[in-house]
Amino acid sequence: MIEIRIHGRGGQGGVTLAKLLAAAEHREGRSVQAFGIYAAERSGAPLQAFLRCDDQPIHNPNMIYEPDHIIVLDPTLIGTGIIDGLKPGGIILLNCEKDPQSYAHEPPFQPFRVATVDATAIAVQQGLGSRAVPIVNTALAGAMARLLDMRLEALLEAFEELGFHEGNAEAARLAHAAVRWRNQPETEGEKPRVTLQRERSRGLLDGNTGSPPAIHTGQWAKQQPVQENATPPCNFICPAGNDVQGFLAALANDDVDDALAVLLQSSPLPSVCGRVCPGFCMQQCNRRELDAAVNVRALERYAGDHGTARVIRSPSRPESVAVIGSGPAGLSGAWHLARLGYGVSLYEQGAELGGLMRTGIPVYRLPREALDRDIERVLELGIDVHTGIRIDRGGLERLAEEHDAVLVATGLQRLTSLDLGFDAQGVQQGLEFLDQARAGGMELAGQKVLVVGGGNTAVDAARTAWRLGAASVKVVYRRSRPDMPAISEEVDEAIDEGIEIDFLTAPLHIEPAQRGWNLTCQSMVLGEPDESGRRSPMPVNGSEFTIACDRVILALGQKADTSLLPESSALDREHPTAKFAEGSLTAAGDLLTNEGTVTAAIGCGREMALRLHEQFSGEQLLPTVADEAQVVRSGQIRFQDFAQTRRDPGKVLPLAGRRGFTEVHQGLDSANEARRCLSCGVCNACDRCVTWCPDGVLRRVNGQLVFDYDYCKGCGVCVTECSRAAIHMETG
Ligand SMILES: Cc1cc2nc3c(=O)[nH]c(=O)nc-3n(C[C@H](O)[C@H](O)[C@H](O)COP(=O)(O)OP(=O)(O)OC[C@H]3O[C@@H](n4cnc5c(N)ncnc54)[C@H](O)[C@@H]3O)c2cc1C
Repeated sequence: MIEIRIHGRGGQGGVTLAKLLAAAEHREGRSVQAFGIYAAERSGAPLQAFLRCDDQPIHNPNMIYEPDHIIVLDPTLIGTGIIDGLKPGGIILLNCEKDPQSYAHEPPFQPFRVATVDATAIAVQQGLGSRAVPIVNTALAGAMARLLDMRLEALLEAFEELGFHEGNAEAARLAHAAVRWRNQPETEGEKPRVTLQRERSRGLLDGNTGSPPAIHTGQWAKQQPVQENATPPCNFICPAGNDVQGFLAALANDDVDDALAVLLQSSPLPSVCGRVCPGFCMQQCNRRELDAAVNVRALERYAGDHGTARVIRSPSRPESVAVIGSGPAGLSGAWHLARLGYGVSLYEQGAELGGLMRTGIPVYRLPREALDRDIERVLELGIDVHTGIRIDRGGLERLAEEHDAVLVATGLQRLTSLDLGFDAQGVQQGLEFLDQARAGGMELAGQKVLVVGGGNTAVDAARTAWRLGAASVKVVYRRSRPDMPAISEEVDEAIDEGIEIDFLTAPLHIEPAQRGWNLTCQSMVLGEPDESGRRSPMPVNGSEFTIACDRVILALGQKADTSLLPESSALDREHPTAKFAEGSLTAAGDLLTNEGTVTAAIGCGREMALRLHEQFSGEQLLPTVADEAQVVRSGQIRFQDFAQTRRDPGKVLPLAGRRGFTEVHQGLDSANEARRCLSCGVCNACDRCVTWCPDGVLRRVNGQLVFDYDYCKGCGVCVTECSRAAIHMETG
């Protein structure tokens, strides 16, 4: 791609120059772009125009900050400012009488190829423009065509096509012949030199005409544009409180460490969430309306697996907190408290840390190395870990006396059962089955396995049984597919793997058969909605039927075991903290909310840690919850500004390779998928607003948008041109 920046003054035809060169290049079959920043009432004011040419389609609408070449239309503009960003070796074509050698000793120009042509004299001679403002663009187009080795004929054909009269063509021809450049080879000198009779023309800024009058057009405005980032829907919905747009922007910028650093502000478990999160952000992604949601989950995994960022622990504080339970809620609470400088002691009844992430979610979805890596990062903050210790009520009291607060994140410990009328050996709880399967040594070769339930445990138990060699696996669920609490993608994958699901089927009783067991079931229909909002299943009389099987796995959900908590402390979402013994007691995670996802448990653990911090220090770190009205929805996105692109789904293990416990989703090869983020509501310096501002009063200075309100008439073009709703109008 060649990028050229043109510097001139309003009225000299700088923007037209960009368009003429673009038209000529277009005739040669190249992709082109030409635009300028100008406005009629700013005649004489410095302006810039831009030209891009490429053999590939051009999608970048930004102004050109690092041009390959520069053209300067007005000699009074020649100075150091105009060469900002010019690439070494670039051409500077100046409209002036001087010989290019005279710039040889001016340091700012030394690394560049300076060329000069007296375009003003040529324009005056050809009667182009007025004496006060000669129009020098066509002469400079001719000169640039020579410097760029463009075909002069292509340029002249473009003139003709655009209706430019012969004087312009002659000006281009003359300038093509007359242009001189520093260190021009001798042979070039043999080309005909044009001697011009330079007439004295009065420049617009010469003598007493002065600079353009300071008409502050901004005072006419009734309202003014303001750049203020709004809330992207992914950030709004993420239960962990992740800055999704922020980490995607870092990845799009090839900065995986920064991406991880952004994630670690809210969640210590990106490698885990990048594998098992249901992807609330993807369900809300505005990009779904254009082609497909950004694969945020896989990108979070990429950042978690490849980033090396670490958080720095704040100076130690005098208070300490005991955390009970090392699932995502406990780990998140412990992490945030430790990084804020608190002493943290973590108690876990199991032999290893991780809660259901280790004992429930199977390794073909969450390999232990990924979980261990995330946990390792938490422990690096100096947490005092006690595994294999079950905390009972007495233990809780002791901890509350030893510490300033206790955070209880014990999850859901009571398994829901179902009386099938026979104490069958063939019936097992789903979580016990999964834990046993993870310990190894289990084999189900040739067995027919029946799983009862519709949640994650049911689907994971079914897929695990299939991996352990079961001859057939069937799930019976008493409601319909849309009511299944299991993550929908998991259900799809289970079906792909050959697992059958009998919807609207409820188990009644089990009895021994000649081989294995017979489970009697009943068909259901959906009735009125129950308290969960789902239509309740109603039995169909006389619809009983039997399914023969070798093993039944019950996966009917879990409930909170609140026996650990003192009766006086009825903790709930509204009142998660109570005074207890010498300190305070706070609950977190599924125990408190029963939201049932790792991501929600992480968010809850963080929230409770930050609440405790506020209680101890008075410092409010909990971000204020964004208002739904501030969330940018698809109707506010200018989809016409974005090209459709294919979503990178990441590598997936083929069905043939899935009979073992190898991870099914194997991640992305690169983070290029992050570039599909539309950056809804968040300015990403695309500069469409700067480009389209008809008054040229919008500039980007040190990365920030600066509105020149003295001249901004409040037309709102920047607001309507913003692809992502990051600018709005405010009434003055
Ligand atoms: C099979 C299965 C698959 C799932 N799949 C997904 C998924 O793909 N995506 C998703 O987002 N969510 C999934 N979930 C849900 C998710 O795992 C839970 O919502 C989440 O783990 C809850 O976190 P928690 O920290 O509140 O509790 P838990 O993860 O249950 O952790 C509680 C911890 O406290 C310990 N503990 C309990 N009592 C005591 C005590 N008295 N003393 C000491 N320690 C104690 C427990 O041993 C445990 O380690 C799945 C759940 C299951 C069962």
